[in-house]
Amino acid sequence: MVLQIKDIHKQYKTGDFVQKALDGVTLNLRDNEFVAILGPSGSGKTTLLNIIGGLDRYDSGDLVINGTSTKQYRDRDWDSYRNHTIGFVFQSYNLIPHQSILANVELALTISGIPRSQRRQRARRALAQVGLGAHVHKKPNQLSGGQMQRVAIARALVNDPDIVLADEPTGALDSDTSVQIMDLLKEVARDRLVVMVTHNPDLAEQYATRIVNLRDGRIVDDSDPYIIDESEAAPAVHRTMGKASMSFGTAVALSFNNLKTKLARTILTSFAGSIGIIGIALILSVSTGVNNYITAIQRDTMTAYPISIDAKSWDLQSLLEESAANANGERTKDHKHDAVYADDSSFTQASTLTSSIAENNLTAFKQYLDDPDSEIQQYVGSNGIHYSYDVKFSVISRDPNGTLVNADGVDFGDDTGSMSSMMATKSGSMSSMSDVTAMQMSMVTGETDENAAPSSFGEIMPGESDSELISPVVTDNYKVVSGTWPAAQDEVVLVADQNNEIPLSTLYELGLLPASDYDDLMKRLDDGEKIDEQTIRLDYDQVLNQQLYLIPACDQYVRGDDGRYTYVGDDAERMGELIDNGTAMPLKIVGVVRPVEDADAANIDGSVGYTHALTDYLIDHTASSPVVTDQQANQNVNVLNGMTFSPSDDATKVADARTYVAGLGVTQKAQLAAGLMDEAAQSGMDMGVAGAAGGTAASEEMLAQQLDAYLATADDATFIHIYDEYVSTGDYDDNLSAFGVISRDAPSSIRIYCDSFEDKDGVSDAIDQYNADASEQDQITYVDYVGALMSSVTTIVNVITYVLIAFVAVSLVVSSIMIGIITYISVLERTKEIGILRAMGASKHNVSSVFNAETGMIGLCSGLIGVGVTLLLLIPGNAILHHFMGTNEVSGVLPVPGAVALVVLSVVLTLIGGIIPSKKAARQDPATALRTE
Ligand code: ADP
Ligand code: MG
Repeated sequence: MVLQIKDIHKQYKTGDFVQKALDGVTLNLRDNEFVAILGPSGSGKTTLLNIIGGLDRYDSGDLVINGTSTKQYRDRDWDSYRNHTIGFVFQSYNLIPHQSILANVELALTISGIPRSQRRQRARRALAQVGLGAHVHKKPNQLSGGQMQRVAIARALVNDPDIVLADEPTGALDSDTSVQIMDLLKEVARDRLVVMVTHNPDLAEQYATRIVNLRDGRIVDDSDPYIIDESEAAPAVHRTMGKASMSFGTAVALSFNNLKTKLARTILTSFAGSIGIIGIALILSVSTGVNNYITAIQRDTMTAYPISIDAKSWDLQSLLEESAANANGERTKDHKHDAVYADDSSFTQASTLTSSIAENNLTAFKQYLDDPDSEIQQYVGSNGIHYSYDVKFSVISRDPNGTLVNADGVDFGDDTGSMSSMMATKSGSMSSMSDVTAMQMSMVTGETDENAAPSSFGEIMPGESDSELISPVVTDNYKVVSGTWPAAQDEVVLVADQNNEIPLSTLYELGLLPASDYDDLMKRLDDGEKIDEQTIRLDYDQVLNQQLYLIPACDQYVRGDDGRYTYVGDDAERMGELIDNGTAMPLKIVGVVRPVEDADAANIDGSVGYTHALTDYLIDHTASSPVVTDQQANQNVNVLNGMTFSPSDDATKVADARTYVAGLGVTQKAQLAAGLMDEAAQSGMDMGVAGAAGGTAASEEMLAQQLDAYLATADDATFIHIYDEYVSTGDYDDNLSAFGVISRDAPSSIRIYCDSFEDKDGVSDAIDQYNADASEQDQITYVDYVGALMSSVTTIVNVITYVLIAFVAVSLVVSSIMIGIITYISVLERTKEIGILRAMGASKHNVSSVFNAETGMIGLCSGLIGVGVTLLLLIPGNAILHHFMGTNEVSGVLPVPGAVALVVLSVVLTLIGGIIPSKKAARQDPATALRTE
């Protein structure tokens, strides 16, 4: 390869000072000679060599390579030229210290994109050529100076270049070693051009075939000038030389290799970079833990306080507004203080109370809820929607003395208990808010339902699927202290409180304690005696062995010979018969449960829990019971008294009145007679009874006889009067309701369970929307206890979430700055290496890919270390957290997507942090880079 250096000028500017390094150098080099360039220090030798080698650019003139001008050379042409044509040997060897000798030699081939196997082979051959075949796996610092220079020569030769440029190759060597190196170079120069800079004239004299003397950037002497006849040669034209190809894969392999050889350093750098990631990961873990906790709390709260809609419910909103208005004194009427005015507030308040009871059409609402397209569906949580039905039944049992006891009210004696006894029995068993409202409501409306299930009995929330009798929410919040959970319709559990206690009244009601004791107790209470605390203890076995009998409301109507049904629910003897004849269903207490220590949702209403299976059974059983089917078969006649519902003519009325009187007992007849006499006395009319009455002293029998006698001759008008005043025919719907007939379309209450406050608000909105669309009477008034109690919690939760997000954001910024700095330092530190890479033909792009690959890998390591360390830190961290929070419910957890995102983030951040330094590295002037020590 022939090189023509034509009038090359090169000057360096440092500030105002201009240093002429080369000042019009013209020199032609033959394709095969050993040229030594001599000259004092600072005369421009290195500059000339760097320009010949394409490491540095000339200011003016031209370098013609094999007749090709380099005036129009672009970066990649120079890269390719260096890579394929030039081999560099430096005074300071410039080996990459952290790579093996073999890897150092391979580097030039790697940059050319030569496959690995070939690289190995060629590098070994080149090393063998310089006599280092046995040392291939050593690191540069394990070699002597001479050996290192031989490695550098091997590296220069491995690409089989046409030109080898050596800058004072023996400058750092002793004379013996210098001779060896010179011998080697002479050998190399046999079939190529070698240009060697030296300031040792003896060596030059001895080995070189031509000596060029340089002084102050000019050639002062040339021992064997080479004159090319320019007229013969074709004018220099530009030809692209192709590029030094290095794939991204090679860049990755190169940097991976580099990182591997500097393992300790890489780990340290990655660790430093990972500190930011650890910070983020820890905050993320804690915030995930806290969020999980908040979500769990929300779900638990929503489980404990679902949105409940009862067939009858308070309009809590208007009540609250009312009491707020009272409290604010807005009630004070505006009038002068000049007379006496009436204060009617007690009446208006009472009316608010009664008018606040809203009746809900749950049948229509259930249709809406059952529609899978309803807007509300998306907000319903994992516990779904539950429907309750007012099944009607009595539970009776025998107390230890054999007395029959009704779970409704202890025994069949006087059921008109005093207020104090009512409070004693009821307040203990009021476990849920809905019980309270139900009771308040019955107090306000005065309505009671004698066939209703005992208030101590409550349905256990069923699971989502039909096969799951008991919801996991219940089993999670209660633990079985004895026995098991019920698994069938005829099994129940006793629900104790945290302290294993059950209301005393319930124990009496279930016949577990003698009823006579209860009567005693009530008597003392009414007498105003003080009742001392006492410990009453029942073994689990005793409780589990207690036999209960369940009699559905419909079975408490017994068919008489006349085809009419008589209610026997208040008659101990006849209820006893129902047990004996097998009508009653034996009910087994299969277990005792109590809420777990930190139960979030103790949601079994009452002290005795039965399953949904019993509800189902009762609904079906009632629908097919004789009293119901008989009543449904003849919808005009009341099966209880044989009278026609709302008769249209007087004849029917008279007939019904006769039937009514005929069915009366002696006492009732006497009462009827007394009633008629009173009426007569008041109206002054002689009803024909008054005269014979003989005052109030008359015995019942006499009165009854007189009534019979009177009625025997009475006219229709009298019977119509009796019918209108004393006979109640009843109502078809009331009858069915009393028998306990229930349609599954008409629940008595609906509970909607949500998983979060947000979803709950969604449900509220959906119901509001439903109300907006529904007709007046289908509108739903619901009770949202959580909304009323905990509206501020949502705000707190949001604040906590935002604070945590802010923390994460800050640590993100800090960690990216940190990673950027680390990458920048690592680039500065490797300037020399960049120079070496460039000298061997790596393009700017190659250099930046190598650095990017490397920063990327460091980022990956940082991310992985960060995640790993975080996982380790979480172990003691959680222990500390649990200790200080006093609860195990808040645990830092690193979510998998979060971990993956952090690793990706770490890579991205490191790459971004590395972009500026790697651009800087790539832009670095290789000549300057190589001068850097
Ligand atoms: P030699 O190798 O003969 O000792 P050099 O080629 O290294 O000489 O340097 C020639 C002149 O150019 C010197 O005066 C040196 O100070 C100057 N020089 C070389 N490189 C630079 C540079 N990057 N910036 C400024 N001056 C430089
Ligand atoms: Mg020099």
